[in-house]
Amino acid sequence: MGTIGDQLHFLPSSISFSIFSADEVRKLSKVEITSTVGLNDLCQPLPGGLYDLRMGPYMRDYGVCATCHLNYLHCPGHLGHIELTFPVINPMFRSVAISLLSRTCLNCSALLVPAPLLTLVRTQLELLELGLAAEALAAADLIPASSASAGGPKRRRADKDVELDADMVDADAVISDKQLSDKLAGYLADLKERHRSGELAGQVRNVVLERRTVIRRFLGQRPLKQCTQCSRRQPSLNDFMGQIVRIEKKDPGKNSIDRPTDANDLRGYLTTVEARDVLRKLWTREKGLLCAVFGVLNSLKHCEFPTDCFFLEVLPVTSPRLRPRREASRLSIPLRAAAMAAM
Ligand SMILES: [Zn+2]
Ligand SMILES: [Zn+2]
Repeated sequence: MGTIGDQLHFLPSSISFSIFSADEVRKLSKVEITSTVGLNDLCQPLPGGLYDLRMGPYMRDYGVCATCHLNYLHCPGHLGHIELTFPVINPMFRSVAISLLSRTCLNCSALLVPAPLLTLVRTQLELLELGLAAEALAAADLIPASSASAGGPKRRRADKDVELDADMVDADAVISDKQLSDKLAGYLADLKERHRSGELAGQVRNVVLERRTVIRRFLGQRPLKQCTQCSRRQPSLNDFMGQIVRIEKKDPGKNSIDRPTDANDLRGYLTTVEARDVLRKLWTREKGLLCAVFGVLNSLKHCEFPTDCFFLEVLPVTSPRLRPRREASRLSIPLRAAAMAAM
């Protein structure tokens, strides 16, 4: 790539959207913002402030960019960044992150989703990836309504939204889960073979819609109250005033299903560092499923823990020349920064 003036127009053959990881923001950044004071008394940019010249001049008469040495008219603007003391939940993914955390064991990071449903969702997403929408829909019929273990859309007590507890899983159910997994695996292998041989053709139509339905059902499933891997009872998580509040029942044995929150219940906070660690461990266990459900993670596979994108530890700061500006008479100055500088 030459200089800005040398760049040619081009026609993209495909386009995809992604987000920057924290390390990528740091690499792109030309300056770390460390000062709350942006301008001095003469409205000149201060180093480390929000108008640092390394991000480009913010006004026509304020010299040249300290990064590319071009003036206001020609400097394209450069990114800065702010390091946060603690990570915060990325507001773009807030509901997704909390939904996922609610379905993850806070002790061992296993998914709090019944095993049959997990197998079914995996199978359906894999079939949809091949464009086999009708076959993905039919996979749900492989779960018999009378099957004993918790889980599966048909095993949910129809439309009553009753929580399925891990206590309901008995020895027979474990066998049923195994049989069900084998059945779904055989079904998937057969269809994949027929797809590979050209007997079954993939379609685009309805695939996106069906995929959305599968994911919505997966994320809409009420989480198990007890982890099937480590047997630890799970607190419920609430999003309250920007914090994740964990509520643990003092007496879980007493009418534990759908009991309203008691004032005596134990409450605490799940910090963002803890939440990030839980999702990191979940990533190591369920990479394939998470990538199939959250497409954004596919574009971050080069990162050690793509689920970190659900949190922000670095804030990118746009160039001053690209920010909205307030006008005061004939002067175009960043009023708030000037006021801060005068304090
Ligand atoms: Zn520049
Ligand atoms: Zn667990």
